[in-house]
Amino acid sequence: MIPRIALCSCGQLVAHVVGDPVRVSICHCFACQRRVGGPFSHQARFLRTNVSVSGVSSEHVLVGDEGPGARFHFCPNCGSTVYYEPLAIPDYISIPVGAFTDPTFSPPTVSVYEKRMHSWVMLPAGVEHIP
Ligand SMILES: [Zn+2]
Ligand SMILES: [Zn+2]
Repeated sequence: MIPRIALCSCGQLVAHVVGDPVRVSICHCFACQRRVGGPFSHQARFLRTNVSVSGVSSEHVLVGDEGPGARFHFCPNCGSTVYYEPLAIPDYISIPVGAFTDPTFSPPTVSVYEKRMHSWVMLPAGVEHIP
């Protein structure tokens, strides 16, 4: 199992992760677009027991366009979100894939909320589509 490290921009908030993600998804919902400042979010879900966090974080509970939402943990200094707790599945932690700065990270296997997808977005072959 390859250990991975997710970092905020200033580097004080760190998530150490072991093991492979149980799910890698992208989400096109408006809540995600606004949160990440881009056309979709890209996140990896890990067993909570495989994630350890160090550093100071601020929290923001955000209800998504659907579902009960999540508690986001971001750096109070630089603002990067390093991990979040999906409220419906407390045994898991999700991490924005960009926080790993790893271009070899697994591509998404699930694409969620495609009715909000920007028209130019091209999805990987074989991805599961959830409208
Ligand atoms: Zn920071
Ligand atoms: Zn979303």
